[in-house]
Amino acid sequence: MSPKLETFLDEGLDNLKEKGLYSTIDVVEGANGPIIEINGEKKINLASNNYLGFATHPELIEAANEATEKYGVGAGAVRTINGTLDIHRELEEKIAKFKGTEAAIAFQSGFNCNMGAISAVMTKEDAILSDALNHASIIDGCRLSGAKIIRVNHSDMEDLDKKAKEAVESGLYKKVMYITDGVFSMDGDVAKMPEIMEIAEKYGLIVYVDDAHGSGVLGKGAGTVKEFGLSDKVDFQMGTLSKAIGVVGGYVAGSQKLIDWLKSQARPFLFSTSLTPGASAAVIKALDLMESDPSYVDTLWENANYFKEKLQAIGYDIGESETPITPVILGDEKLAQEFAKRLIDEGVYVKPIVFPTVPLGTGRVRNMPTAAHTKEMLDEAVAIYEKVGKEMKII
Ligand SMILES: *Cc1c(COP(=O)(O)O)cnc(C)c1O
Repeated sequence: MSPKLETFLDEGLDNLKEKGLYSTIDVVEGANGPIIEINGEKKINLASNNYLGFATHPELIEAANEATEKYGVGAGAVRTINGTLDIHRELEEKIAKFKGTEAAIAFQSGFNCNMGAISAVMTKEDAILSDALNHASIIDGCRLSGAKIIRVNHSDMEDLDKKAKEAVESGLYKKVMYITDGVFSMDGDVAKMPEIMEIAEKYGLIVYVDDAHGSGVLGKGAGTVKEFGLSDKVDFQMGTLSKAIGVVGGYVAGSQKLIDWLKSQARPFLFSTSLTPGASAAVIKALDLMESDPSYVDTLWENANYFKEKLQAIGYDIGESETPITPVILGDEKLAQEFAKRLIDEGVYVKPIVFPTVPLGTGRVRNMPTAAHTKEMLDEAVAIYEKVGKEMKII
């Protein structure tokens, strides 16, 4: 190994370990369903983003298998050479219909979708107003674009109005965009879409909503933008196919012109091999199921509300979530980590989330109840929460 690299790695790893920022990765032995097995022990899984249980749904598995038989395991090329298969076209038509837009473009992941889509439209002559709690992929996509990044206090509409006015009236920028998560993944709060659109219309902002945690959850599954009836107003409805949809991939839904532009300019679309046929077919099936059977989304909400009520009833602070995302807020960082460890030992798999992912002093464990959990699983999880909470004198 290069001595320079070795020194860099040794120092870097030591530093991470000292600060408690080096995380070891648990390996799930088998499927990521409502019950998972880790080190040979079964745990109730409250850590996945598999909101509707689609990651292990038999009909999605069958669709993926059939497509793999028909097309093979790989798409064979990037989209713009000859890696656009008819199943990709079908997928994009389905996404557009689902989102209520003219067109859609699919990417290999939500992360690279943000990297590609933001930088295809915004340049160093532009400015991006970005919510302070936006996802890492938004932050990286904004940086890659070279645009001036203006941080807006989280969901603070006065701050947005002020900074939008300043940016537009300064005359320094050709275009100004506001970019936000639709649902914020740490607290489960929802972007204030009607107010955002009012401000955007007042100043002529481009609006980009990353709905990774809203799709499949809000708007009867169609997402945050649909929930507020704004499908024809928001310029970019970005989302992932890896959370509620249960598979992998990302997309932007919007006007035909926008999608035509992204298909000729977004670099991950041009230079990275397209989604596998199996993944594409599984996503198509997921969208069909969600559209034809409201019970998936209904069960998700029923389970989430049930679980939240029970946790609150035994005395936990579950924050102000407006979605199934259920934080249990402990405050102290070390306590949050110790608490999560005890829960896992007792059979509930959760992740502690601490500074710098969330503000200092708001350490928590985050729970993601899904449509695939049974009431018995949730009851058992709550019983473990009660036992551990009492032992640790948290409740
Ligand atoms: C998870 C997530 C992404 C990334 O999506 P992947 O498809 O997993 O790459 C992007 N944005 C937000 C807000 C997310 O939560």
